[in-house]
Amino acid sequence: TDHSGVGFPAMVNADADYSGRPSSARIYDALLGGNHNFEVDREAAKRLLSMIPAAGEMARANRAFLNRAVRFLLDAGVRQFLDIGSGIPTVGNVHEIAQSREPGARVVYVDIDPVAVAHAGEILRDNPLATAVQADMRFPQAILDHAEVRKLIDLDRPVGLLLVSMLHFVPDDDAFVAVDRLREALPAGSYVVVSHGVSETPADAAGEGVAQLYQRTDVSTATGRSRDQILRFFGDAELVPPGLVWVNEWPDGPQDDAEPCDMAVVAAIGRKS
Ligand code: SAM
Repeated sequence: TDHSGVGFPAMVNADADYSGRPSSARIYDALLGGNHNFEVDREAAKRLLSMIPAAGEMARANRAFLNRAVRFLLDAGVRQFLDIGSGIPTVGNVHEIAQSREPGARVVYVDIDPVAVAHAGEILRDNPLATAVQADMRFPQAILDHAEVRKLIDLDRPVGLLLVSMLHFVPDDDAFVAVDRLREALPAGSYVVVSHGVSETPADAAGEGVAQLYQRTDVSTATGRSRDQILRFFGDAELVPPGLVWVNEWPDGPQDDAEPCDMAVVAAIGRKS
């Protein structure tokens, strides 16, 4: 389905009680030991850990990769970041890393989860160069046309597009169409950063249970993809060394004690020319 160019669906009801159903953003926050989550999210995180004991380690390794990726992009001269599926703000947010080195760096956070966006908005209240927008990445044109995105991101200058540990929550066709659209909107010299749950690992056995768990959340799906499928998200963008590797091995081998096979998450960065 080509959703590009279509407006936002009505997603947020200001009066809704979000504590009733777990959300992927808050499950992840619970895994990281954050406190922006509800009982239902903690229960879901517990069940996830019973199926994938390394899930907490994976979340932390993913977060550490995000940190290294942002520093790599800063070294490459990128000063604007579009972080989609940014999650609930936690240690090492993109704007903190970027603006501590480059005070003029601009960051737009995008997430489907209203709780994540509300917390980000709170943190960024006094930060004129960073903002948080609630949007569904399956509607990429609405993100590109969003007034806040237009205000902070200059699409004539290189952008770091971050899709970190989020595309496995977006079903197949929608994810490919949307990422193609976003990537095409960026100028040469832009970078695409992806980390993604990979099927083909020992976690596969748990895959069915994990998919069922996420069926009851806001995102309704969690699908690992094969490495070949994950590479499709980069289109013509050329992968920078070392290519697509376990998330804790980017860019130069294991960054911690985790076993690569426990990771079940791979990562890569592509440069658009
Ligand atoms: N990127 C952060 C990181 O790596 O630390 C957070 C990753 S968290 C596991 C996944 C995030 O993707 C959640 O905050 C969830 O709400 C968001 N998400 C899932 N589907 C989305 C969609 N269709 N559009 C925007 N955000 C989405």
